[in-house]
Amino acid sequence: MPGFELFGEAERKEVNDVLGNGVLMRYGFDAQRQGHWKAKSMEAELCHQFDVKHAQLLSSGTAAVTAALAVAGIGAGDEVIIPAFTFVASFEAVLMTGATPVLVDIDDTLTMAPKAVENAISVKTRAVMPVHMCGSMADMDALLSLCHKHGLLLIEDACQAIGGKYKGRSLGTIGDMGCFSFDAVKTITCGEGGGVITNNDHYAKLLDHYTDHGHDHIGDNRGAESHPIIGYNFRISELNSAVGLAQARRLQEFLALQKKHYTVLKDALKFLPQLTFRRVPEGGEESYAFLNFFLPSVDEAKTVMTQFNAQGIDACFHYLENNWHYVRAWEHLKEGRSVNNMNHSQKEGLARLSKQNFHVSDHYIGRNISCLIKIGWSLEETEDRARSMVRIINSMI
Ligand SMILES: *Cc1c(COP(=O)(O)O)cnc(C)c1O
Repeated sequence: MPGFELFGEAERKEVNDVLGNGVLMRYGFDAQRQGHWKAKSMEAELCHQFDVKHAQLLSSGTAAVTAALAVAGIGAGDEVIIPAFTFVASFEAVLMTGATPVLVDIDDTLTMAPKAVENAISVKTRAVMPVHMCGSMADMDALLSLCHKHGLLLIEDACQAIGGKYKGRSLGTIGDMGCFSFDAVKTITCGEGGGVITNNDHYAKLLDHYTDHGHDHIGDNRGAESHPIIGYNFRISELNSAVGLAQARRLQEFLALQKKHYTVLKDALKFLPQLTFRRVPEGGEESYAFLNFFLPSVDEAKTVMTQFNAQGIDACFHYLENNWHYVRAWEHLKEGRSVNNMNHSQKEGLARLSKQNFHVSDHYIGRNISCLIKIGWSLEETEDRARSMVRIINSMI
């Protein structure tokens, strides 16, 4: 998945444009910038790549999710439903808006189970935020119809599935807004950065203001601009955008490599009766950033992972070896270890969370092995890796 693997001439050229004119900020300095608008150009490139009307770049993916929720009007007293398997950024963003995260079980897609979402809807629910984990998507038709029925917003965290599709549409364009991260390990990178995409003009305008202290960006005197709303600073720099612009132009190249390497691994593993693959919802096309499969039991997954680690096959066992992606290890969240005061609803919500049982998700995460697909592998390396994985699994189970 990581775009940093193929950092090269194209990225260097864009960065050198910025170093050449010295304009590191995305706004203003029109005369000095000699025609270089890296953040703006990357936004245009994202609109083109994802066939969407608006894109707003930000300083991180976490900022993207926070800003999307905020401009959707979500705040104190509201609840946002998120999956128990996601990156910590999802609940952090909900908490930053003042809203309360409500975590629900996942299913064999490794994303939120629509039935679990339905059971979690309360009078306080304002939004459902599926997270398209490890390169594949939630069951969007089921979630869309639930959101429609209950009048809820649907905000996609597509940070880990950049370039994936559902029924012909890019992930991130199906709900009201879609969020991306361009941090150092995502499919395309800015070093640090994020993006929100939407077809909604109103949200797009608010995002433009909200991410830059509420500036309306009208006229050419920044100091004299007015502030229709309270905003914050979630701006990305021109240097980071320059890297991202070159990477965004190469997205299709990166996706093709991911697919090629993913297919080599999958073709080798698919004859093993010991494992099953994660389910991809009907009509879905993965981004191929990861290959995920289930072993019959936690113990067998543990044994295979030990051998993978010993033999240099890097893979991720979220259940026991990773503290960042699954509710099981989030003691800091369950105990509400916030450095500053949280509001009453948040404290109540986290108290409920600390008693919640996630045995359905445990059943999937406890048996799942997730293999990051590198785009820098050679074909030979990928084939060697596939053979080693088959040999290890066959010898252990
Ligand atoms: C990476 C990631 C984010 C946040 O990204 P940052 O840019 O690192 O803040 C959010 N959600 C998911 C699912 C991610 O994988």
